[in-house]
Amino acid sequence: MTALPLVFDAPRRGLPQRHLADLTVAERAEAVAALGEKPFRAKQLSHHYFSRLTVDPATMTDIPEASRQRLVDELMPSLLTQVKVVDCDGGTTRKTLWRAHDGTLVESVLMRYPDRATLCISSQAGCGMACPFCATGQGGLTRNLSTAEIVDQVRAAAAVMRDGLLPGPDGTPAPGRLSNIVFMGMGEPLANYKRVLAAVRRITDPAPAGLGISQRSVTVSTVGLAPAIRKLADEGLQVRLAVSLHTPDDELRDELVPVNNRWSVDEVLRAARYYADRTGRRVSIEYALIRDINDQPWRADLLAERLREHLGRLVHVNVIPLNPTPGSKWDASPKPVEREFVRRVNAGGVACTVRDTRGQEIAAACGQLAAEG
Ligand code: SAH
Repeated sequence: MTALPLVFDAPRRGLPQRHLADLTVAERAEAVAALGEKPFRAKQLSHHYFSRLTVDPATMTDIPEASRQRLVDELMPSLLTQVKVVDCDGGTTRKTLWRAHDGTLVESVLMRYPDRATLCISSQAGCGMACPFCATGQGGLTRNLSTAEIVDQVRAAAAVMRDGLLPGPDGTPAPGRLSNIVFMGMGEPLANYKRVLAAVRRITDPAPAGLGISQRSVTVSTVGLAPAIRKLADEGLQVRLAVSLHTPDDELRDELVPVNNRWSVDEVLRAARYYADRTGRRVSIEYALIRDINDQPWRADLLAERLREHLGRLVHVNVIPLNPTPGSKWDASPKPVEREFVRRVNAGGVACTVRDTRGQEIAAACGQLAAEG
């Protein structure tokens, strides 16, 4: 039995005060009772937060004013303040910059499609994984986000959708439902394991215990912390796993995804297979295609071979055209090279498609989140 690596649960430093969304239903009742309030107030608070999606005490009129103030102060402190909102793609993509209690900045991106709405959320402020092509990776890790700081990004976006603030399929603002969540914003979710797992439960538990989003519509994306992938596989969840592979060979991956020096391509793919077997879900492989770096035909062939060997048909490759980040020497591959890459992976027996990139002109696309303000 090897000890769990340190990257699992980095410091508590800077985390905000306890919040309702950090707690299980049982813990909420205990916390309310400990404040000398009737236990059913916990359910009322949960209803306001998880069903009504509000944090405004003025609207919580079913709770007497004196209790309300106290309960809100103790269990619903304001966590994220909206600093800036930028829209693009005809208003269907919205990036929000949030400030936490200690001044930390994080971003989330809401993308509305004709048939669904996806929120890309952050699990850490900054990131410690140091992938050289990713904007977030350049600044290092500031701190983990608390469970409630993760959940609150989702609550806010669910309210935006419900209130019809983004254009619907016919181009005019219309109510909709936040349907999908991807942990593809700032941070490495599996390096903040405990809090991310609790956030997944809060996001997916039926209201008013949680936000009631389907587990199958939640994607946890990771650089490939193999032991944490296996641990997640054993949680009995139905969430989708995405692995940021970016190349099938260790030599290049050691550079593109430095944590590969700790867990190699083989170890990562073995853990991904375990995840697929345990959950019955196909694993997504993320592949940011970088001109002249990882876009060679032989790499496409090798990718298909390695994935077939490890995952058989339990895999799908998402090619992401590289979004160049400031100061980076790298660029996206030319379209013909991209097409040939995708063709070869498919020809090799592995499903492969190109991910559409939203939010490019507002620095909201994959790997561009840096919260510079
Ligand atoms: N740390 C997690 C989740 C955050 S990044 C992970 O690495 O999976 C979400 C995805 O965007 C990852 O696949 C990441 O490699 C990719 N990405 C990062 N920077 C990018 C860039 N500049 N262009 C395209 N994709 C990028």
